[in-house]
Amino acid sequence: MRILVQKFGGTSLSSPKARELVISHIRRELNENYNIVVVVSAMGRRGEPYATDTLLEWIATNGNALPAREKDLLLCCGEIISATTLCSLLESAGISSTVLTGAQAGFETDDQYGNARIVNVRPERIIEEFKDHKVIIVTGFQGQTISGDFTTLGRGGSDTTATALGAALHAEMVDIYTDVNGVLTADPRIVEDARPLTHVSYAEICNMAYQGAKVIHPRAVEIAMQAQIPVRIRSTFSENEGTLVTHPEGIRDVQTGVLDRLVTGIAYVSNVTQITVDCGNDSNNLQLKVFKSMAENSISVDFINVTPTGAVYTVFDQDSERAITSLQALGLRPKSLAGCAKVSVIGGGINGVPGIMAKIVESLSEQNIQILQSADSNTTIWVLVKKEDMVQSLRSLHSKFELNR
Ligand code: ADP
Ligand code: MG
Repeated sequence: MRILVQKFGGTSLSSPKARELVISHIRRELNENYNIVVVVSAMGRRGEPYATDTLLEWIATNGNALPAREKDLLLCCGEIISATTLCSLLESAGISSTVLTGAQAGFETDDQYGNARIVNVRPERIIEEFKDHKVIIVTGFQGQTISGDFTTLGRGGSDTTATALGAALHAEMVDIYTDVNGVLTADPRIVEDARPLTHVSYAEICNMAYQGAKVIHPRAVEIAMQAQIPVRIRSTFSENEGTLVTHPEGIRDVQTGVLDRLVTGIAYVSNVTQITVDCGNDSNNLQLKVFKSMAENSISVDFINVTPTGAVYTVFDQDSERAITSLQALGLRPKSLAGCAKVSVIGGGINGVPGIMAKIVESLSEQNIQILQSADSNTTIWVLVKKEDMVQSLRSLHSKFELNR
């Protein structure tokens, strides 16, 4: 049985015109004789009637006190509305389908509501349904605990639904349909001349996704990589084939020379706070206490530089008040700088290549942008800048590394 997974994101389902295009993508693959699993997100974005953010805003104005378990129950409605709408439209277009919830599609998760982890995927019901239908619509982003409670997989969770089903069903391919022509060298909303990449390796896109490129969820990429299922990221609004994500071995024989690529792209995470703590003479003991206290308060820390007399690190803006309070409780007087952004230059080729950091510093200083902190690994160089400098940083680095060519 040839199985294809097609995942359609929120904007791909938000208007009648978009939904018509979704149907044409399904029809085209049916004509190629695939059995298709269609994974859907909730329709539209914030402000549109059944979007995830709209459902959350609804509760915010109705008591704003829904417990986590019940919140997941509500959020599951968005995908159910989306899936049933598509089923009706397909039926009227002469294509028979059936709808399965996350639980019915076999997603068993832990009970971490709002951000549940998949424990097991049992796709038997899908296989069974293929006897009667060539198209099975599965609500993305959701699962069920062993005791039968609805859970959601966190933001971007529908991508994970799609690749996990791809892996469980040994699909030929997982197609992630969205509102851009694949993976680009930077977020096209910020860098206008960002260029689509025809091929990327799992590692490259996974890195970009972890550094903030939200075109696909990094966990979804990891699952596909483990199962060695190729993923294509492409636009609902064109017939362009988008970006193919595979192992580098699969890429080597095409002419793109991906393995020689120095820099793959630029990504960002905004809304972080830089925290500086001076630990004075007692540094060893206090440094340990600092990071223990962050952990005990479930505050995720990043960009950590430990110096002989203290530490510098970042937290998300929303956690900064709690971070400061807990440091003050240790008798420390931390300094904080809110409204920063982490800008990342990503590429498997930067490992050990001299001059990359110099190029980054040159590019930013030409724009009078101050680097607040920096760090590097063998695939990524990070710089912390003020949020008001973020857009200019992304654009100047993008052109410095000639990513628009
Ligand atoms: P969907 O609802 O289809 O899941 P998302 O909003 O989650 O869509 O992801 C698509 C968006 O990701 C694009 O509209 C784009 O602005 C953003 N994006 C960020 N970085 C990149 C990148 N490097 N390449 C492509 N898109 C990116
Ligand atoms: Mg998404």
